[in-house]
Amino acid sequence: MTTLQTATVEPALALENLTLRYPDGADGVLLALDAVDLAVPPGQMLSLVGPSGSGKSSLLAVAGTLMRPSAGTVRISGVETQTLDGRRLDRLRREEIGMIFQQPNLLPALTAREQLVIAEDLRGGSRRAAGRRADELLDEVGLAGSGQRRPHQLSGGQRQRVNIARALMGSPSVLLVDEPTAALDHERSADIVGLLGRLTREHRVATVMVTHETEFVPFTDAVATMRDGRLSPPAGTTPRG
Ligand code: ADP
Ligand code: MG
Repeated sequence: MTTLQTATVEPALALENLTLRYPDGADGVLLALDAVDLAVPPGQMLSLVGPSGSGKSSLLAVAGTLMRPSAGTVRISGVETQTLDGRRLDRLRREEIGMIFQQPNLLPALTAREQLVIAEDLRGGSRRAAGRRADELLDEVGLAGSGQRRPHQLSGGQRQRVNIARALMGSPSVLLVDEPTAALDHERSADIVGLLGRLTREHRVATVMVTHETEFVPFTDAVATMRDGRLSPPAGTTPRG
């Protein structure tokens, strides 16, 4: 069946009424996320923009189940994460969520291919299957010939490609990306955003990309803006244009 029925597809990532408070260091609290609603279906990439300190990274941390919200719901592929104990939550995070940060935190002693294989080792998968998948993914991100290189032998853009490939090793349904191009020049940045868009479609992941570079927003499926912990438009999946 090839009919696309986006409206009825269950979102891979659904945030409902999400609220996050930090202690503010004095007596009060800081409202980092204020009743945020967001739904991203598989195969769609959302740009998340907004000023520094508006809550973008906090949103990714809560969506990625690294932090529990003060209130509200994080649903990943239909699973309400607040009902899970720590062990189940760890497993869901390993199996369903890929994360990419500004600085690719690669292990200096490992080759590109080993960075990917070791990620799968932690998941308990077979090493031979992991090796095959690593080769496929390195090929997909344009690093087919570079699997034996270590991070210092790769450019900044190539290291970010390894990082992206590694995030896809576990076949996640949700990809959370925080300022992936902040350390790259303009041309490499455009390539990385284009790559993330293609992988989002081909791997049918729901991608949220935080970016301060609004010029890349037109290359994504939707855009939402954070301001003082509030998201607009609230649904976040309003098509651009
Ligand atoms: P952004 O990614 O948009 O720059 P953040 O999510 O990092 O915003 O921060 C949102 C707000 O929460 C800011 O006011 C920031 O200072 C505050 N904040 C972030 N992390 C913490 C923390 N661990 N403890 C207390 N306050 C925090
Ligand atoms: Mg941030």
